Amino acid sequence: MPPITPDTPIQFLKGVGEGRARLLRDQGIETVRDLFWFFPIRYEDRRHPARIADLGRSIDIPVLIRGRIVSAAARVSPVKRLRLFEAVLDDGTGSVKLIWFNQPYLADQIKRGDRLAIYGAPRINGFGPLTLESPDWEKFEGDEEEEGAIVPIYSKLGNISPKAFRKLMAGARETLPQLEDPLPPALRERLGVGELADSLRQLHQPKALSEEFLRQRSAAHLRVILQEFFTFQLALRVRRASEETQKKSRAIEISEELREEVKSILPFKLTGAQKRVLREIADDLRSERPMYRLLQGDVGSGKTIVALIAAMILIRNGYQVALLAPTEILVEQHFQRIRQLVDHSVVVARATGSMTAGERRTLLAGLRDGYIQLAIGTHALLEDKVQFKSLGLAIVDEQHRFGVEQRQKLFAKGAMPDILVMTATPIPRSLALAIYGDLELSVIDELPPGRQKIKTALRDAQAVDKVYDFIDSQIDDGAQAYIVYPIIEESEKLNLKPLTHGFEQIRERFPDRRVAMLHGRMKSDEKEETMQRFKRGEIDILVATTVIEVGIDVPNASIMLIVDADRFGLSQLHQLRGRIGRGERKSYCILLQGAKVSNETRDRLVAFEKSRDGFEVAEQDLQIRGPGEFLGTRQSGAMRFRMGHILRDYDLMEEARDLSIAVVAEDLPTAESTAHALLGLPVPAATSRD
Ligand code: ADP
Ligand code: MG
Repeated sequence: MPPITPDTPIQFLKGVGEGRARLLRDQGIETVRDLFWFFPIRYEDRRHPARIADLGRSIDIPVLIRGRIVSAAARVSPVKRLRLFEAVLDDGTGSVKLIWFNQPYLADQIKRGDRLAIYGAPRINGFGPLTLESPDWEKFEGDEEEEGAIVPIYSKLGNISPKAFRKLMAGARETLPQLEDPLPPALRERLGVGELADSLRQLHQPKALSEEFLRQRSAAHLRVILQEFFTFQLALRVRRASEETQKKSRAIEISEELREEVKSILPFKLTGAQKRVLREIADDLRSERPMYRLLQGDVGSGKTIVALIAAMILIRNGYQVALLAPTEILVEQHFQRIRQLVDHSVVVARATGSMTAGERRTLLAGLRDGYIQLAIGTHALLEDKVQFKSLGLAIVDEQHRFGVEQRQKLFAKGAMPDILVMTATPIPRSLALAIYGDLELSVIDELPPGRQKIKTALRDAQAVDKVYDFIDSQIDDGAQAYIVYPIIEESEKLNLKPLTHGFEQIRERFPDRRVAMLHGRMKSDEKEETMQRFKRGEIDILVATTVIEVGIDVPNASIMLIVDADRFGLSQLHQLRGRIGRGERKSYCILLQGAKVSNETRDRLVAFEKSRDGFEVAEQDLQIRGPGEFLGTRQSGAMRFRMGHILRDYDLMEEARDLSIAVVAEDLPTAESTAHALLGLPVPAATSRD
């Protein structure tokens, strides 16, 4: 067998069989080189285990203890019938009790006489013994080589224990001297970082644990984080730069006639912010570079009309426009609203997954021969079969539901179409620039006049009867209500029970009201029918999931009751709240909090109760949940950094951004091959360009 190198496929590493190779590949680890980017989740300093006798009452601080198991037994606790596994660990100076919950199989793994290293926070309950609940544990099986060292702890991967993972890594580390550095010395110097192999060795086998190291800001950490961020930024810039070298072939004109037409379809005066943003977009549409613009505006700020006007500009210049929305309900709503505005002056078509074969044929033909001028659709628009005669502009609504690849698919459907991405998730500007380094940013920071203030109120679940009484009186007054249950539609295994149960409850409580249910798994014509009836005022209470979160517009609906509000993220609550306060009526958003919420959650909801501005909410949410989750998993794909944190390491992201801009400006072909090397892609053969 040839000696292993960083490029050796992972299945040839010693200790990796077929099963493990599959597990590792699922984590994106294809070669030995990839393994190095799987970092320890923490380190244990086994040079200095704590002595149990010294622990005293220093409780709640995690410590490492090494000792021998003197007793171990599984039992069922009478309280709540929990299955417990309990053991006593003795280190020669004293003993501690260990408890694990609902892991009865531990009885086969931890036995009297075993030597264990334990890591966890000791607690004292009343006069009971010092106890560690669900500590991390690892067994010594005679190989003492790791005692007295700093030990990296990797997260458990399937049946690969942290310890087994360490063994794999030790084998891989032997190839480190052969690992070439994808950052050339000149760039390393400009970033002020050291060599990759050195840094990786320190991260996987540290000699000391300094304070900086533990904060993940040691020189070795900085090297890895900067490489991640720089790779990301450079890839964005290189792509953007090569797009810029190509020119759009369309010449867009905004004639006096077009202006008049737009004016005639507008049912209201645009706000100042809408006008400003439209100017920015119109400039992009007329420029030679394809537009790539992110339009941010809080819920209800009026993004749709801006998109429609942009669409009109392209259509009257002879091009087609695609409008992508995340749900069929939203497609339908855009379709109805836009049809109402443009009447028959524009040929508008819908594209959804539930089209009949005949509808589909008509659509495909109409798009191909250019008869259809505006196509409004879900992901169905992205299918390969969908071809446009002359797609000039693609608009993506509520983009936090779309991934980068989908954006690129759209781009491929036209000859350098302009792209406008609209979102109500108000990412703080600085963060947006760091993340979407390749997008221009427009912000609608003003709501249309005459908006009703929304009163937000947080109530305990016990107060639900009073809340129902209030809703009843509002309906007497002619209002309509949403009642939302915490069922996140994006999840794969959608459990609708809480919703159907809630629906029955509401029907019982409101026997004289017209109550209907709405969720994503209903047939699309059923969904549509329900929405239309709600819009026409034929339904008083709509019991729904988060399908209504995005973009639904029913001005007469002025009540929103959110059940178990603590189970939603703040930005999501804000989105939901944005569904009301759209008409003449005073609007109320009532958050019911579950029976057992932590103080922290409660504080969060109280803060939300007081806030009105989406940016404020986003900022809070970002702090609480971190950017990955905040932005939605689908979108964070491009930003799954192994070591870097966008918030914590924001300074490094800026540094990476600045350097990548400079590098691309200096010499694009070199920047291109650097980007390829960093991404682990084959370096393009012909990088020359005049
Ligand atoms: P969002 O930005 O959340 O997508 P919409 O485009 O759905 O917001 O607009 C919300 C509501 O505000 C719609 O009913 C729309 O007709 C209305 N609207 C938009 N712009 C204005 C304006 N300038 N003046 C009055 N109403 C407006
Ligand atoms: Mg919208």
